[in-house]
Amino acid sequence: MKPAQVGGTEYDARIRRAEHLASPHPFAAEVLRFYSRVAEFQKSLYAEFKKDFGLQLAGRMPGSLRIGLPAIEPKRLVSHFTSLLRVIEQAGPSALAAAAREISRLDAVSKLSLLESYWDVGGINDQLIGAFAQFIPRAFDQPLAELIAAFTPVGPVISTQHRCPLCGGQPFLGVLRPEGDGGKRRMMCSFCLQEWDFRRIYCPACGEEDEKKLPVYVAEQFPHIRVEACETCKVYMRTIDLTKDGNAVPVVDDLAAIPLSLWAHERGYTRLQPNLLGT
Ligand SMILES: [Zn+2]
Ligand SMILES: [Zn+2]
Repeated sequence: MKPAQVGGTEYDARIRRAEHLASPHPFAAEVLRFYSRVAEFQKSLYAEFKKDFGLQLAGRMPGSLRIGLPAIEPKRLVSHFTSLLRVIEQAGPSALAAAAREISRLDAVSKLSLLESYWDVGGINDQLIGAFAQFIPRAFDQPLAELIAAFTPVGPVISTQHRCPLCGGQPFLGVLRPEGDGGKRRMMCSFCLQEWDFRRIYCPACGEEDEKKLPVYVAEQFPHIRVEACETCKVYMRTIDLTKDGNAVPVVDDLAAIPLSLWAHERGYTRLQPNLLGT
């Protein structure tokens, strides 16, 4: 597995893509503009922590991603978290803004424990918290997880892994990357956003491998996004097909595809893991 190219450039690409997709997809424009504000915040958090902790992070053991946040002064973490809360209060949808306002009234210890508990269960057990409540700690922890992931080696991969080989998180998105004449299917982790190779005909939720039970739907409006469903467990995976659109930025194109979530939901499919904005 190649470390993802994260850092300033990757965040800039996400922000540019969100701005680019906002006009042809008016139904998602508000969500995409809000996302680009959050991504700006994540970009600066990532850059600052990389500068200060990059050396400490070198040479981590495989599988050590979840072992605590790096030794960052709690006061500093809380002060950055307060900045994110302010962004959400100003630019977020009203319910999220209200949640951010409530969290900003908590004391420093409770704020830290919110970030730390998400660090432990994010992408693993966050169904317990619900898509909506997880947004705020997820938006904060994700750039730190991406940073640590970039420095953490992957252990040996034995077979098709249902969970991220770096942090144990569940996938939330599939990616088809061009390879030879076709595409190579990969899964993207809902917690640390790293990708790993995955079998083409295989349900990441229940392991179904009968092609007849794994229908793929593509809507005219999003020719580069596949809805890969499983009739056995009724879970679906959304896959960004980079062989169809090489300019797509998977985490961002997925946010714009709100109608596909509604479509799948109407047909009784549920998503294995929601995206950052809970769709
Ligand atoms: Zn992961
Ligand atoms: Zn299944």
